[in-house]
Amino acid sequence: MSLQDKIKILLQPLGLVENDLTYYVSSRLNEAFKYLEFVISHKHLELPTHALNESRRQYNSSVVLDELLRLYNKGLFGYYQKVVGLADVDAYVLGLNFVFGEAILGGPVAVVYLARLRSEFYGEMRNREILVERTCKEVVHELGHTFGLRHCPNPKCVMHFSNTILDVDFKEMLFCLRCQSTLMHSFTSLTI
Ligand SMILES: [Zn+2]
Ligand SMILES: [Zn+2]
Repeated sequence: MSLQDKIKILLQPLGLVENDLTYYVSSRLNEAFKYLEFVISHKHLELPTHALNESRRQYNSSVVLDELLRLYNKGLFGYYQKVVGLADVDAYVLGLNFVFGEAILGGPVAVVYLARLRSEFYGEMRNREILVERTCKEVVHELGHTFGLRHCPNPKCVMHFSNTILDVDFKEMLFCLRCQSTLMHSFTSLTI
């Protein structure tokens, strides 16, 4: 794959997300993945208000994802192959207490939620570096799903399912060899 063929990924803040966080996340990801190009969207988008479950004080992730897909299908995100929403809130899907993120398997959109990636959520000091690291891992994980990857049994692989923040911290930002090869196969079918 040549450099011109880089797959373009849009990082779309949903509601208020600190600019320097999105900046560090995209720079980190651009360094780590030479075949992907991460770009920060400057479009102002809010989280859909109907996605908020007031009694749970969490957003229904599936509603957020549906809204992103609707906008994607309307052509709002132009030529980007994948769009990953970033939202500084807590979210759930039916049947789970919370999610760090969600994606449409093999689809164009995904979303990552920052609330539970923050150290202060666990009673620790705010730590920008840890937040950037965790956000990068979750963005890559959800992106992997959009390229058709499922969960991986290797706990170090970015595609391993994270039940807790300890799982997020244990895994690396990278795909294991098996996931990497599935991913490359998926790219080949994309570019043919
Ligand atoms: Zn997953
Ligand atoms: Zn893997």
